[in-house]
Amino acid sequence: MDPSAPLPPEAPRPNGAAGAPLRGPGAEGTPGLPSRGRAAARIAELRARCTAAGIPLTAQRREILSVLLQRDDHPTVDQIHSAVQERLPDISRATVYRTLETLSELGLLQRVEHPGSAVRFDANMAPHHHFLCRRCHALVDLPLEAIQGHQGLAFVGDPTLRVEEVAIVLRGTCPACAASQGGA
Ligand SMILES: [Zn+2]
Ligand SMILES: [Zn+2]
Repeated sequence: MDPSAPLPPEAPRPNGAAGAPLRGPGAEGTPGLPSRGRAAARIAELRARCTAAGIPLTAQRREILSVLLQRDDHPTVDQIHSAVQERLPDISRATVYRTLETLSELGLLQRVEHPGSAVRFDANMAPHHHFLCRRCHALVDLPLEAIQGHQGLAFVGDPTLRVEEVAIVLRGTCPACAASQGGA
């Protein structure tokens, strides 16, 4: 299944398309906080970035980011859709997809794309590597230090190429799959 297929044709930026703007207590977050984790701070960050971008902090944006902050399994659009339906029963898959795009444009989450695997979403914005299980497609965060000798990766090729991202993915077998397959 190609999760990018049902993307609605060039949807307009959801400028308050749905949902009432939310207001909350004063922002307690500081910009540049590492990674997932402190959800309240990340929601405060969302509020600040929506304000800066001139778009409302909708219930959709808040709930979808909350779902991602609660899990580290890099869910797909469909998984996020079912999780967020517990809080917003009427939300459509297209709205979930558009909201994920907006949150990613705001720098609050990232798309994780690996060939042969569905697009996944990650609220961990700290630089990190991924381990992808070839069998069950579990996607696990790895700290940069997990790869010896690869801290401080530096691109020393063509200087006219503006490198904006370096990604390393380790593919293999997760413990659950190794156990069920007897290591085969
Ligand atoms: Zn596995
Ligand atoms: Zn990740």
